[in-house]
Amino acid sequence: ATAQIGVTGLAVMGSNLARNFARHGHTVAVHNRTAARTTALIEEHGHEGDFIPATTAEEFVAALEKPRRIVVMVKAGAPTDAVIDEFAPLLEEGDMIIDGGNAHFADTRRREQALRERGLHFVGAGISGGEEGALNGPSIMPGGSEESYKALGPLLESIAAKAPDGSPCCAHIGPDAAGHFVKMVHNGIEYADMQLIAEAYDLLRTVAGYAPGRIAETFRTWNTGRLDSYLIEITAEVLAHTDAATGRPFVDVVADEAEQKGTGRWTVQTALDLGVPVSGIAEAVFARSVSGHTGLRRAAHGLPGPRREALAPAEAEAFAARVEEALYASKVVSYAQGWNMISSASGAYGWDIDLGAVAGIWRGGCIIRAAFLDRIRSAFAAEPGLPTLLADPGFAGEIGRAQDAWRSVVATAVGHGVPTPGFSAALAYYDALRADRLPAALTQGQRDYFGAHTYRRTDREGSFHTLWGGDRGEERTG
Ligand code: NDP
Repeated sequence: ATAQIGVTGLAVMGSNLARNFARHGHTVAVHNRTAARTTALIEEHGHEGDFIPATTAEEFVAALEKPRRIVVMVKAGAPTDAVIDEFAPLLEEGDMIIDGGNAHFADTRRREQALRERGLHFVGAGISGGEEGALNGPSIMPGGSEESYKALGPLLESIAAKAPDGSPCCAHIGPDAAGHFVKMVHNGIEYADMQLIAEAYDLLRTVAGYAPGRIAETFRTWNTGRLDSYLIEITAEVLAHTDAATGRPFVDVVADEAEQKGTGRWTVQTALDLGVPVSGIAEAVFARSVSGHTGLRRAAHGLPGPRREALAPAEAEAFAARVEEALYASKVVSYAQGWNMISSASGAYGWDIDLGAVAGIWRGGCIIRAAFLDRIRSAFAAEPGLPTLLADPGFAGEIGRAQDAWRSVVATAVGHGVPTPGFSAALAYYDALRADRLPAALTQGQRDYFGAHTYRRTDREGSFHTLWGGDRGEERTG
């Protein structure tokens, strides 16, 4: 047995991860249900490092040093259970199964518990960065036991992306499903970021009257400032691209129906269960859904809307600058919501997640990598118990300075009939959190009126009910 690590499931992600391990000097056992993939990997990339191809599960397991480390990169869901069922009986106490797929964190909790009872470590590891990241350095979010991380961490850290300061974009997130949970929220934030960028584009196109090439330039400029990020960078690339077949801007020939694989939806469903408001992520998921409802869109097409011309060129530039402010402020809000969700789950599941470390490992390798994440890391380093990023003095100051522009952009969007659910929801969340009083007091009154649900008072302890159907006297109920 000479392989430090094994990878089973050699589709695009698995084969790239295996190559990444091999390129870093590790001997990698490789296995796939259909042996042809294993053969193809060895034929095409066998020269890149030390691989031990295995046809059967037994051969694969026999090739591994103990404690064995098996990375599973198969289709999430039932296939993951099938692979676990196949390998677990062949393993010994202390061996590790690492699921690098996009598993739902509830499945990871279930699998971790089942394998723990059999003396095995199960590590749900979120992996972000797509196929390019898997090969050249992903951001890795491993959960599982502290003990498993000791045996696994150095290997994972060796293949992970490096942040600008050289530290690996991989850290032990917390027990059982903490890693897959954090990966899920990463994807939710990614949805929100993409939606906000899309809204900025729509405003520059419709209200500022910019052509896609000009918008690409605008994003390139923004990418040199506080918005500097992978997503802004690729946005400029996509917008600058011309369709070869028609000579038109690429963005104008792509069907405007956004698809999704489900991690954004999971984030929102889970947030609802945890009672955490993640309105930015929710609006992003719903915006994709709206775009895909072609029947609804066809039925409503042509309904009255405002008739507004694009701004005059002299005004357009100042407007574009305001859109940058609105985009930045909205982005801070979606990250604040995402971190709030991680923090709530960490408390609810007893994960004790280091919130700053999460920002640290997202600085490189993953889809939301950005200079901005270093700011989040510093905010939690300065104040580990920070209840919301919006309360960090640095972010609060920036949003304070951006808020006039932010409000004006949302108002302009409404005036021009440009849908900006992300910008609007972010602003509403900000205004709700900072408000002295919320109309929730009225909601409580209504609940008490129709359902005797009781309310608390601002001036006295206890629960109260007003006898709405009687003399409207108040009784204390608890
Ligand atoms: P796929 O999700 O397309 O899965 C294909 C692999 O799963 C093949 O190796 C296939 O084996 C194997 N497989 C399917 N069913 C079974 C089964 N019942 N038993 C054994 N093996 C099975 O591959 P990807 O590389 O795209 O993704 C792998 C995982 O990584 C997924 O969970 C995905 O969500 C996740 N992921 C993907 C990212 C991406 O950018 N693509 C990014 C991050 C994570 P066979 O060849 O025999 O059919």
